[in-house]
Order: sequence, then structure tokens, then C-alpha cells
Amino acid sequence: MTGPRIWLDVPFAEKDQAKALGARWDPAERRSYAAPGRAAQLGRWAALPDLPDLLPGEDRDYGQGGLFVQPTPATVWWTHARSCIAPRDWERVRRMVTGRAGCRCEACGQAERPDAGIRLETHERWQFDTATRTQRLRRLICLDSACHTVTHFGLAQLRGVADEAFAHLCAVTGMTTAEGNQHLDAAVTLWRQQSEIEWDLDLGILTSAGIQIVQPAGSAADRAQVSARRTAEKRHDQAPGTERRSPRDTRIVGAYEAPAIYTRDPGEDQDDEDEDEDEAPPAGTSTVETASPSPRTTACHRG
Ligand SMILES: [Zn+2]
Repeated sequence: MTGPRIWLDVPFAEKDQAKALGARWDPAERRSYAAPGRAAQLGRWAALPDLPDLLPGEDRDYGQGGLFVQPTPATVWWTHARSCIAPRDWERVRRMVTGRAGCRCEACGQAERPDAGIRLETHERWQFDTATRTQRLRRLICLDSACHTVTHFGLAQLRGVADEAFAHLCAVTGMTTAEGNQHLDAAVTLWRQQSEIEWDLDLGILTSAGIQIVQPAGSAADRAQVSARRTAEKRHDQAPGTERRSPRDTRIVGAYEAPAIYTRDPGEDQDDEDEDEDEAPPAGTSTVETASPSPRTTACHRG
């Protein structure tokens, strides 16, 4: 006998704790729920109201469905949207973004395939307004891990998967190798210009939806200071020569004129998106999607 599911909003970092108290993972819904009789112990993760499918002021056409490289300016590392809101609220955001996308990558149509390491992640799309020096969140987009890695090409370099990311960029967009390299060069030029600027943060599409800022990013100068300090700490922690390198890394880094400019900004890192890692259904069950991009289907249901 099973009653209606009691849904939870469990941030990835707290999933083991919640699991020990009786939280379970529904792979079809991509969401945690309380095992029968365990809701009381799980009250701190009780589901908050669903967010609307369109956040107030959000532009879902911003950047179209396109896949492109958009490195985060160095002056705003560590202080992006996800770092400013509570993990539980980010879980709500993730759930809404994934659900409204039909549980498919909005750039290439890929569905989640935990068995192949392909996950669906929430990417923040920004507008950098140089006139007002404002970094404004315009849209949230569901990308699979391969496309998400392309957008943060510097992270791909750090991870030693730049060649794979470049191939994926070309495969999804239809760019030739020459066009892909031109695209990268343009992205780096823009990145350099944007990294000269200290940016104020505008998270209006989140706050207008009632999401509270629990860790304010501060002024533009504050953000630049945070970025410099945390990046220096990270560099200090990282043993030199530990990064994996590929021929493309060398070429790109050379083009970027500075080695390891992309010291890892974990803010948009992807390790919080694989909450079903240890509870993924085995291959061959009905909840596992096929690999090929195909027209959208309802791969997951809305809670
Ligand atoms: Zn994709």
C-alpha cells in the first residue's frame, strides 16, 4: 500500500544525511521523497512550492537554444547565482529548469544517461552590460554535461577534456574546425575584455520569484576581491603540474597567452547534479533514455 508521495527538496550535499533519515530517490521524477512513515524526520527538507515555469523577467530565448563558449569573467568567479541562494532553493530551481525542458538538453536534445555519465545540469546564462557594468541573469537553461562543459571551456581544459569538448561543440553546432577555433578565439577576446571589469550582480529573475539571497555577492569591487582571494587560495592548494594536458590545451592556453588562467571556479562545477548516481536504474529499464538526440518526449514527469 502506498499513499501519495511526500516530496522533498534535498540539496546534493545533504543527500546522504537525508537518505539515512529515510529519503528515497525517484529516478523518473528526479526527485527525493520520504519513505513511508519517515516524513516527520525529514521535515527540514519538506518540498517548497514549485517555481513557475517562467521566472518573472526571464528571457528563455536569450542566446537561443544555441551552444556556445561563454567563459565566466575572472572578476566574478565564486559569486554567481547558485552561490548566493540556499542549496534548497537551488534544488527547486534545478527541478523546474529540468522539468520544463522535458528532461532533455536544450542545446542538443540529449536525455540523461547516468550509465554513460551524461547528466542534466542547470546553466546560468548571463548578460554582461558594459554600460552599467552589470552582470544580469537572463535565463536558466538545462544542458547535458557534455554541452555544459563546452560552455565552460576553461574547465574542460583544466580537466584535460578540451579535445572532447571542442569536438562536441562542432558536432552540435555544425561548425567546422576552423569555425570552432574562430569561435573560441572570439570567446577568449570577449572574456579578456569582461575580465577587466568589476561587475554588479543582478539576480532579479530569482528574487522576483520569491527566492531569497542568503549570501549576497556584495558590490562589484567586493566580488573582484572575493575572486582574487579565492582563486589565490585555490592555486595555493593545487600542486603544480597536476592538471591533465592535451595538445589542444597547449594550443588554447597559448592563444590565451597565460597558462592556467582558468583556475577552477567550482561555482558552476557539476558535482551537485548527480544526485541519483548511486540509485540510478540499471541500463535497459524503461527509465533509461536512448543516446541519440531525438524529438522531445516526456522523459520525466512533473512533480
Ligand atoms: Zn547537450
